[in-house]
Amino acid sequence: MSGNERAVAVLGTGIMGSAMARNLLRSGMEVRVWNRTRQKAEPLAADGAGVAESPREAAQGAGILITMLADTAAVERAVGEGALEALAPGAVWLQMSTVGVEGTRRLQRMALERGVAYVDAPVLGTREPAEAGELVVLASGPEEVRPECEPVFEAIGRRTLWVGPVGAGTRLKLVVNAWITGLLGVLGETFALAERLGVDPSLFFEAVEGGPLDLPYARTKGKMMAEGEYPTSFSVKLARKDVGLVLEAAGDLRLPVCEAVAYHLDRAAEAGHAEDDMAALYEGVKAASR
Ligand code: NAP
Repeated sequence: MSGNERAVAVLGTGIMGSAMARNLLRSGMEVRVWNRTRQKAEPLAADGAGVAESPREAAQGAGILITMLADTAAVERAVGEGALEALAPGAVWLQMSTVGVEGTRRLQRMALERGVAYVDAPVLGTREPAEAGELVVLASGPEEVRPECEPVFEAIGRRTLWVGPVGAGTRLKLVVNAWITGLLGVLGETFALAERLGVDPSLFFEAVEGGPLDLPYARTKGKMMAEGEYPTSFSVKLARKDVGLVLEAAGDLRLPVCEAVAYHLDRAAEAGHAEDDMAALYEGVKAASR
């Protein structure tokens, strides 16, 4: 693959990375993709992406590197195989996976050591917003590289919040994740209680309909719980990773709600739902009471 400093390399074509790569292609950018399991990257060739054999090949001469991988270890491994060294001089690394506070420190250090500008840019939104190019980007990093980031963020998102130096985006992401996973936990328990008391879950929604407690998020996840079908937008496994990152960042601040969510997600994974949508937390709540 030839070097083109306007090319964007995307490492990780899972649910989020493949949708993001597609939107970058739609906006006319040259995009190279790499994924550990190559078959998951190959469909993007039909959209115009170059499918690389290695992270280094994807990054060769590119001006922007995007990482959208499961966790810190996956990012370290992917970029540690020569991808950072292969980028064009002055290239920018947009680290968009959710890696937490410590992960961000480690990855920023890798970038510093190799002289690559690092932008901490986790996202809000799941499969559908990613496919529609409607993510919210929580960006933080050096002011001077922001103009180069903007076209990328515009292609994948509906809004970008620049929130300060590296680390600020990740801290905001963790705060929002505490909220999202906490809501999911209480929804799973609410549904389990409804089942125990013989209350039809649709009556719960009828009771709150039209008021401030009638959340679209609860409707979407509640439908999955009611139907017992969990097509994955965000997996139990990654939701568990995210709650772990929240608890780790909280340090000695006790967060029993998040601890309970972690507990339910562990039970859901043990019951065989690790790859299912995080709404399968409900199965974990039920499994723990059997
Ligand atoms: P996903 O569909 O499960 O994809 C995970 C990606 O990570 C795949 O490309 C996978 O490669 C790769 N990977 C996992 N372990 C690896 C390893 N050890 N080495 C190399 N590659 C590895 O996950 P996703 O939902 O797209 O999430 C990606 C990131 O975005 C995560 O950090 C997640 O927390 C964050 N995020 C997700 C959502 C969401 O709603 N889905 C929303 C916001 C943020 P293989 O295909 O080979 O397994």
